[in-house]
Amino acid sequence: MSVLVYTESENGKFKKNALEVASYAAEVAKLLGTNAVSISINATENETLGTYGISKVLNVSNDKLSTFNAKGYANTIVQAAKAENAQVIITSSSTDAKYLAPLVSASLKAGYAPNVVAAPESTSPFTVKRTAFSNKGFALTQINTEIKVVGVSNNSFGIIENATTATVESFDPSLEDNDFSTKSTKVDKVIGKATIADADIVVSGGRGLKGPENWGMIEKLADVLGAATACSKPVSDLGWRPHGEHVGQTGKPVASNLYIAIGISGAIQHLAGVSASKTKVVINTDPEAPFFKAADYGIVGDAFEVVPQLIEKLKEF
Ligand code: FAD
Repeated sequence: MSVLVYTESENGKFKKNALEVASYAAEVAKLLGTNAVSISINATENETLGTYGISKVLNVSNDKLSTFNAKGYANTIVQAAKAENAQVIITSSSTDAKYLAPLVSASLKAGYAPNVVAAPESTSPFTVKRTAFSNKGFALTQINTEIKVVGVSNNSFGIIENATTATVESFDPSLEDNDFSTKSTKVDKVIGKATIADADIVVSGGRGLKGPENWGMIEKLADVLGAATACSKPVSDLGWRPHGEHVGQTGKPVASNLYIAIGISGAIQHLAGVSASKTKVVINTDPEAPFFKAADYGIVGDAFEVVPQLIEKLKEF
């Protein structure tokens, strides 16, 4: 028996969420009295996973898997799970992971709990805490199938360093043409900027910023903080910012350590996607803006005055 974790990488390097799910897998393995094994695809730093409690890494080197492909990746994970007799399979809650985890779960007839935020409350019955009602509450969910699939929310469990060493073995899944029925041929990504999913800090702007020409100060603030930039839905609908930055119920979920909302009213659909962030700071001229009720810190003020002062102050650190 083992715990298998899919550790995501990009250009060979493990993503931050890979280190978090590796740490989570090590904890589950400890609770079950077994080992945590990782499956990585075209990653180059596999032995480093030992630091996070992984005892063995199955590394797949396959050019056909150089871009994400849900079926091909899911089939690879399923074969690794069978080879390792995995009782629990762990993924992140990234967009890719949320795409492939249901395929893994269907293939193995395993129950799947996404958006899990803490180590299992109990292993018998296997019970996990997950977010519910668009992050407005939590639910305790039992997975009663023999094999379980768990999707861990980003920035929920944290990264824990253990002093173990990982052995690395190559793993060669048998993949057929049918596993590549869809294929991404080109993936455009802004290089060098933190992504919303992985960022510790997200600086987000809303319609209160009046127009795209005023985004310079949002980007400057994000640069000073090493943050990703995001926006409310109307901002991307108006074409002020790319759709990839739209966060909320119908956009990307944000689970950062710090979320700074500037000129955003805090509509329920926006809050639904950002409320998993640990600390929320709101800058808004209207003291009655609903976002203040959900905020940890608030500044009632004009973004055009507050943000430049904030940037100057932060530059001093
Ligand atoms: P507004 O509501 O126009 O708020 C602008 C805010 O800026 C105001 O609070 C104002 O006081 C403040 N302001 C103005 N000037 C300044 C200034 N100089 N300095 C500081 N503050 C200032 N929205 C999302 O964001 N994400 C979603 O995923 C999403 N999904 C939706 C799904 C559905 C089905 C529906 C119906 C709506 C959805 N919406 C979503 C839209 C949502 O209901 C709100 O309309 C939207 O979030 C409002 O965006 P906003 O806060 O940027 O703009």
